[in-house]
Amino acid sequence: MNDLYVVGIGPGAYEKMTLEAIRVLENCQTIVGYTVYIDLIRDHFPDKTYITTPMRQEEARCRMALEKAASGCPTALICSGDSGVYGMAGLVLELLPGYPKVRVKVIPGVTAALAGGALLGAPLAHDLAIISLSDLLTPMEKIRAKLEAVAAADLVICLYNPSSKKRKDHLKMACTIVLGCRHKDTVCGIVKNIGRKGQELKILTLEALAEMETDMFTTVFIGNSQTKKIGPYMVTPRGYTVAPHTR
Ligand code: SAH
Repeated sequence: MNDLYVVGIGPGAYEKMTLEAIRVLENCQTIVGYTVYIDLIRDHFPDKTYITTPMRQEEARCRMALEKAASGCPTALICSGDSGVYGMAGLVLELLPGYPKVRVKVIPGVTAALAGGALLGAPLAHDLAIISLSDLLTPMEKIRAKLEAVAAADLVICLYNPSSKKRKDHLKMACTIVLGCRHKDTVCGIVKNIGRKGQELKILTLEALAEMETDMFTTVFIGNSQTKKIGPYMVTPRGYTVAPHTR
């Protein structure tokens, strides 16, 4: 059997990659991925053969990686963050029955929710839902229904793909739905370019979030009814009884 590794490289910075991901990439000869992600790792693995594909070429990218592996070349297909969270691991496994000589190993990575959550403080310390606002593969009606359900359930909400040039109003739409069940002062956070050049973060109210313009390199956090701002941090209490501060 020939191995194809589907590797989550984390949000961007080399130190946020897992040791397992680094070792797997060191041992593969060919690395396949979206151009932007290949550029994030190229300097750390200089002697590899790189195959890059543009965005929206997901199936072609997966097939290239499967074919390369089938030819006997140790190959890795890289994804940003985690390879299973809106990554290529699912599609590769759906295509795998056409490549009987290939065995797939999925290598996890630090997804944007976790890396961004750490930058904000501890917004995900209680139950959460992750929802993508991209309607490229999911009908908008379904996305709306999910937002309504998780807003009513008082889950912390983490939004991926909050908007792009073509989908400017999606974040506003999502906030309007959540405002139907949550206070306008609900504590929210935005993190942009996590672990990359231009990293930025902001804590703001749900009402203010609805007016924000974001881009495709941003992850959005909407707190639950208990989430609070403690100094510069966004924190969702787990429920511990915290004794008043004494000196
Ligand atoms: N597999 C990736 C998610 C891919 S979907 C992961 O696990 O993180 C793409 C979305 O992920 C982006 O629109 C953004 O919402 C989020 N994202 C990925 N990398 C990011 C980063 N470095 N900074 C902020 N958000 C990021």
